[in-house]
Amino acid sequence: MTTAPTTHTSPEPGAPRHFIRQLIDQDLAAGKRDGQVITRFPPEPNGYLHIGHAKSICLNFGLAKEYGGRCHLRYDDTNPAAEDVEYVDAIEADVRWLGFDWGHHHYFASDYFEALYGYAVELIEKGLAYVCDLSAEAFKDYRGVPTRPGTESPSRNRPVAENLDLFQRMRAGEFADGQYVLRAKIDMASPNLHLRDPTLYRIKRIHHHRTGDQWCIYPMYDFAHGISDAIEGITHSICTLEFEVHRPLYDWILDHISVPCHPQQIEFARLNLTYTVMSKRRLLNLVREGYVSGWDDPRMPTLCGMRRRGYPPAAIRTFCETIGVTKYDSMTEMELLEHSVRAELNRTSLRRLAVLDPLRVVITNSEDAERHVVEAVNNPEDETAGKRPVAFTSEIYIDRADFAEEPPPKYFRLAPGKSVRLRYAGFLTCERVEKDAVTGTVQTLYCRWDPPEAKVKVKATIHWVSASASACAEVRLYDRLFTVADPMDDPERDYTELINPDSLRVVQARVESALAEAEPGEAFQFERVGYFCVDAKDSRPGAPVFNQVVALKDSWKPGKT
Ligand code: ATP
Ligand code: MG
Repeated sequence: MTTAPTTHTSPEPGAPRHFIRQLIDQDLAAGKRDGQVITRFPPEPNGYLHIGHAKSICLNFGLAKEYGGRCHLRYDDTNPAAEDVEYVDAIEADVRWLGFDWGHHHYFASDYFEALYGYAVELIEKGLAYVCDLSAEAFKDYRGVPTRPGTESPSRNRPVAENLDLFQRMRAGEFADGQYVLRAKIDMASPNLHLRDPTLYRIKRIHHHRTGDQWCIYPMYDFAHGISDAIEGITHSICTLEFEVHRPLYDWILDHISVPCHPQQIEFARLNLTYTVMSKRRLLNLVREGYVSGWDDPRMPTLCGMRRRGYPPAAIRTFCETIGVTKYDSMTEMELLEHSVRAELNRTSLRRLAVLDPLRVVITNSEDAERHVVEAVNNPEDETAGKRPVAFTSEIYIDRADFAEEPPPKYFRLAPGKSVRLRYAGFLTCERVEKDAVTGTVQTLYCRWDPPEAKVKVKATIHWVSASASACAEVRLYDRLFTVADPMDDPERDYTELINPDSLRVVQARVESALAEAEPGEAFQFERVGYFCVDAKDSRPGAPVFNQVVALKDSWKPGKT
């Protein structure tokens, strides 16, 4: 693996110099690692990627790009029990969607199974690993607790030749699952439990999604991970804080085998986001138990869920840059992510008219208001987006919430005898209200229309759609998936009890006719309502389905954490 030496050391202008950038700068200034920055993103293919992974992806791929290096995509597929090709494919799609590219540097830890086996043999030959026959319970008892030294296994001083023979026979399938493990011989008195002769290999007869039934022994993550980094020549092995206590083990392993390099592990705090859960195990549970419609349910914190919801990848990248990188665990507010999404969509999305809770309005002076075309601005933030024609007709819909039969004080929208401005289309004055004789609900408003140049005093503008030149659309409105900010806060409480029963509400809306043909994945601002995206799975031409991406108003305030 060769890369052109890099001379480039400065990150993008204005990028905050978080501690990892500072560390890399120091390494490069000191001439370490041949001036190279080679990182990797190492997912385990046992679930779909979530927004926490996006932080790691943006960091690893981002740093590589900034410093003119490269970032590998490597699957840590050492635990076949939970892994699947379905996840491998989904992970690739998600990383690409986020805007990153690994070139031809696409690897699997399982590519290194033979090499890893060789390094294990090397440790055995050096008297630094042994085959142990303690049962799982005895293993735990012997390991002890951090405050007291553990007890050495009776297998610890097995001769090298016997260890080599047993390890080879473990591989050959001569023993039952769990009968033996290979352990590193480090220090049973270490205060760090990870150094108390940790397991390096276990026997597991499980079909592997890539190596099939070729192996019945599999390396432990801790053994495989650091060595995989070293084989690929990773310079900066960036991972989350929980691996800090594993670092002495990685270092020990790499110091005692003949690998070509010794990557530096750097730990940072994982992303935690309010009103959701992030562990793949819990997300899988939400899917399996049917609390959501799938991994890509728009309420999920998964990248495929966010894509379907309509979050632009640029907004996720901005969010990841904004939250920064630290060594301290904290909780990030969902509102901050939504703030990035809104800012991006405000810049890029086309404006359209849509009425989520339609109330019929009949224009009484329809000879004046007879069908004509008004011009609507496509995106006030982007002049090049231009204008579009919208039909105004003698029957329209307005939103039920924009009418009050008995208006409370300071209600400036439509009420009997009152007027409002119609977005792009003149004025409406309510003359008569027709109600359902049985239920008493308002069914139709009869209103006078005045053209835009008329002098009508109003204090509010409302949106509308033509009754005949509009289409029906299903709109899915989303709220937080959980009712509390931190569903994992109370260990006694099952987090599924905290799922918000009203996190999805479906309404039948009326939208501008052109929206019926919008492309899957396309996002719009429905004026005065919020941002909406054509559902890529369920929407059909002529029968559109929209997901609410994010509300129009920002509830996030800088400094409010
Ligand atoms: P989970 O705990 O959600 O199941 P994981 O850490 O087991 O996730 P991996 O597939 O092993 O998932 O993670 C791949 C990479 O993504 C790792 O380097 C991991 O540290 C990083 N990562 C996972 N979750 C987060 C998070 N919430 N914030 C930042 N990085 C994360
Ligand atoms: Mg993991």
